[in-house]
Amino acid sequence: MRITILGSGSRGNAALVEAGTTRVLVDAGLSVRQVRLRAEAARGERLDRVDAVVLTHGHGDHVGHARTIAKAWGAPVYLTEATRRNPHLSALRGVRLFGSDTQFAIGELSIDPHPIPHDAPQVALVFERENARAALVTDLGEVQASLLDHLRDVPTLLIEANHDPALLAAGPYPAPLQDRILSGVGHLSNMQTAAALGELGSGLREVVLMHISETNNQGALAQAAAEEALAGHEATVRLAHQVEPLTVDVGA
Ligand SMILES: [Zn+2]
Ligand SMILES: [Zn+2]
Repeated sequence: MRITILGSGSRGNAALVEAGTTRVLVDAGLSVRQVRLRAEAARGERLDRVDAVVLTHGHGDHVGHARTIAKAWGAPVYLTEATRRNPHLSALRGVRLFGSDTQFAIGELSIDPHPIPHDAPQVALVFERENARAALVTDLGEVQASLLDHLRDVPTLLIEANHDPALLAAGPYPAPLQDRILSGVGHLSNMQTAAALGELGSGLREVVLMHISETNNQGALAQAAAEEALAGHEATVRLAHQVEPLTVDVGA
């Protein structure tokens, strides 16, 4: 299994998950053109087919291009009933619903969702093919015990490290927006993410930090916090980027 993170952050999210012959685009916050360009740049081959689009939640940075992407590849769009109610998604065709805590399959890829707290109905996703497993966890205000249970023994973890609270406080965001980000249905700080990594510790082999704010965070701060939490464990830590794609090989 291979995951190519095409873009991660508030200016647009999308990741290509390839499992055997199955290709699934997770989130559609980038244009068809950018998905094609970045997938080809990262993988060294043209992306001529996407079998399905899976949406984590209804925010624009994750679904803004869902309709055009689905149309370009004639791909069905998988989403939860709660996300389906988002008025911006009412014109979507070829919709398939999945339950927010019910495992489902697309071709050779198995997907195990788990609901997480955000200010739109949101899910973490665990991808599995044969014995290879990886999780994508972004856009959540806090890490609940049930999520840690869901992620236990998933060796490859793509998890949000959105902001540094001091940079957020000193930055240009208006107070209501800062409050939203800091709330239990906002986004994870570097420290919240580090605490989760510390809990998962020895089960982790590779960590990729996602959805890093370009305004309220610095990659080096997020990375240092994560590495400190994982000191003494085997796991490596890398950073996803808003515009530079990153490929993650997910072994068994
Ligand atoms: Zn987002
Ligand atoms: Zn969101």
